[in-house]
Amino acid sequence: MAHEGVDVLVIGGGITGSGVALEAAARGLRVGLIDKADFASGTSSKSTKLAHGGVRYLAHFDFALVKEALEERGRMIRNAPHLVKPLGFVLPLYKHNKRPLDMPFVLPGGIGTSTILQAGLLLYDLLAGKLGIRMHRRLSVQNALKLAPALKREGMTSAFIYYDGQTDDTLLTMTVLRTAAQRGALLANYAEVLGFEQASGTITAAHIKDTLTGETYAVKAGTIINAGGAFAGRIEALAGESQIRISPAKGVHLTVPREKVPMGADAVVLPETPDNRLIFLVPWNTRITIGTTDTKGGDIDQPVASADDVQYLLDVTNDYLQTKLTKADVISSWAGYRPLISAASANGATSKLSRTHVVHDGPGGMITITGGKLTTYRRMAQDTLDHLAKRTGTPITHPTQELPLDGALGRAEADAAVDVAAKRYGWNADIVSRVKEYGGEACHILDCCAEDATLARPIVPDLPYTFAEVVYACRYEMALTLDDMITRRLHLNFEDWTRGVAPAPAIAKVMARELGWSEAEAAEQVRRYAEAVAREQAASSTTL
Ligand SMILES: Cc1cc2nc3c(=O)[nH]c(=O)nc-3n(C[C@H](O)[C@H](O)[C@H](O)COP(=O)(O)OP(=O)(O)OC[C@H]3O[C@@H](n4cnc5c(N)ncnc54)[C@H](O)[C@@H]3O)c2cc1C
Repeated sequence: MAHEGVDVLVIGGGITGSGVALEAAARGLRVGLIDKADFASGTSSKSTKLAHGGVRYLAHFDFALVKEALEERGRMIRNAPHLVKPLGFVLPLYKHNKRPLDMPFVLPGGIGTSTILQAGLLLYDLLAGKLGIRMHRRLSVQNALKLAPALKREGMTSAFIYYDGQTDDTLLTMTVLRTAAQRGALLANYAEVLGFEQASGTITAAHIKDTLTGETYAVKAGTIINAGGAFAGRIEALAGESQIRISPAKGVHLTVPREKVPMGADAVVLPETPDNRLIFLVPWNTRITIGTTDTKGGDIDQPVASADDVQYLLDVTNDYLQTKLTKADVISSWAGYRPLISAASANGATSKLSRTHVVHDGPGGMITITGGKLTTYRRMAQDTLDHLAKRTGTPITHPTQELPLDGALGRAEADAAVDVAAKRYGWNADIVSRVKEYGGEACHILDCCAEDATLARPIVPDLPYTFAEVVYACRYEMALTLDDMITRRLHLNFEDWTRGVAPAPAIAKVMARELGWSEAEAAEQVRRYAEAVAREQAASSTTL
């Protein structure tokens, strides 16, 4: 990037920036992307991991928003079937629910609530059009309890099951980045933008610091695209007066072991909270995730789950469950910030392309894209590049609408090879389905096992990750530190705060071989990782 310069420099390697890099590369632009930390280390590893239209927005009559997200959900399933899978959501209704799904009103005594909800779910199915997953169904109380045995029977009056998608947010971000790289995008993590060079009020280059080595570079860029998420305002401020105000809204999730909340393969939607929201209980490997909260304000540099956040989620969940969860059942928690826009551009230049996201002309000619959701990342990228094309007078094309993400092609052959490998290495069903999440790329994981069969071993017994993934993430996903590996590529910390600590030296040894670390460097990585986990645990023991 520093040697040759780029047409477009994207700042931010979350799902938004990754989508923009892919869209730009697919339109034939020379694109670079930088992130000040690891890819997906911001909000994009801290979501509920759903590809969804947002049933809740129906109650606000936000049909365009829901339709847009449902169409993108459908495209995600079509373009990345290995990564985005349909998931059923059991939605129970209870006598005590006053405004389920944030309905604007209910009739006295809740008369007709269930019929109104059913009409809403029918509309949800219809808005998805040809890209729909499966029609919702009404469930008897007995059948709802069969699908979601954790739920309380008392007071349940009716139930439904509807369908959305589930993904792995971090792996999705990495996959979009890999797809962009295959089309020539240049990517750098641990590369922070510190400032810009400008000529006649237009940015001509970005000053970038390698945060691992301290070296600095100047990258010449035709256009800067700011995809800094909750940090977008700060990035604008580096070039002049920021015109947007991000109003961060914190969302917290808890992880509990699956046996604590008896559930089948479907997720559960708790239809009402004291602040008129929904809570999802989502099966995730051998765990259940519970979330999310929505609170204004907080420190975007240090997203943490507070004691109040944890208590809130436990209280709401316990209202609906037969058994009671306690703080002792929580084995991990995580927090992220939604990059919500609180004010439009002061100069009136904001183009509001949809209710979910905003493409905005920032200072120095940068284009800022913010808001939105994981599900709409491709549409956000498309709108951003359309905005640039209008500015430069180039023809508008939409190449990513039908573009398979890396791994979508060659998936059937790879799946068959994974089944054969499973027999050879004694992999259980969880490992098999994890390896298959790489789609056609799984062949690289199998190659690693073929090179060295010890890499086929699981890293911890009850989670589906093998040492072969460690090698893969070094070679193909730019994991540079032990924390990148354990926290994001394997996301062990999200599934259990402490489980990465014991295998850390063994993981570091494999990384050392791949990345050329000395013994001292590997030991230092283990020390730093253990320190980070201890810090996290200390924070959680004070907050819990
Ligand atoms: C709790 C929660 C649950 C959610 N659940 C869902 C869901 O289930 N489905 C869904 O569709 N959406 C969901 N969302 C929304 C979705 O997660 C976010 O909209 C999305 O992840 C935002 O991605 P982003 O790339 O804009 O931001 P981020 O992922 O935060 O990326 C911004 C990046 O910019 C980098 N950066 C910042 N400053 C600089 C700098 N100076 N130089 C270089 N890089 C910089 C950061 O390091 C960061 O990696 C959820 C959001 C939250 C908070």
